[in-house]
Amino acid sequence: MVTRALDVVLLGPPGAGKGTQAKRLAAAYELLHLSTGDLLREEVVRGSELGREAEGYMKRGELVPDALVGKMLLARLHSQQAAAGCAFDGYPRNLEQAGLLDGLLAELNRRVDIALYLNVPDEALLERLTGRRSCPSCGAVYHVVTHPPHVEGVCDTCGGALVQRADDREEVIRERLRVYHQQTAPLLEHYQARGALREVVGTGTQDEVFERLREAMRSTKR
Ligand SMILES: [Zn+2]
Repeated sequence: MVTRALDVVLLGPPGAGKGTQAKRLAAAYELLHLSTGDLLREEVVRGSELGREAEGYMKRGELVPDALVGKMLLARLHSQQAAAGCAFDGYPRNLEQAGLLDGLLAELNRRVDIALYLNVPDEALLERLTGRRSCPSCGAVYHVVTHPPHVEGVCDTCGGALVQRADDREEVIRERLRVYHQQTAPLLEHYQARGALREVVGTGTQDEVFERLREAMRSTKR
């Protein structure tokens, strides 16, 4: 019996833990974890033609065009590791990218089977993200509530002084969330319209969230 590939998209706001959950889902369902951020970095490191092209944009501080990311995704989708399906993490971010992904998958007679939407209230995200402190010396990341250092403001690993990155300030996060909601609403409708959307409560521990994701996967016919 031939099993069809299973393609899963993970949607959710910054700070919802998409990356962690996508990795766990990929491991549990033998899918390829596909993060476009990782994909870009890998191609740049490998020095592939597409990677060199992407590097040009990144060096200029510009966004890598969707068409170029699409070419990278296409190559990866055709690889053996992607044959059983993919867990897409951080992609698509907007309706245009969703259309592009639909087109790429259609070439393989596949489609997005499930769009898992990790729903986390903005206030919970703000608490998570504004509590982050990082160590500029060694890169360690802490959280004032969930993962505090032994001594307040001091890195456990290297003794460096911890700082709040500019990205983690409240006004910056509120703006990111605003943009996120604006781009995501049509994306949710897109997957809802074809019955692929599953909303999952994204608060609680990583294990709790993962269990809910598994439930949502079980309730979906392949
Ligand atoms: Zn440190």
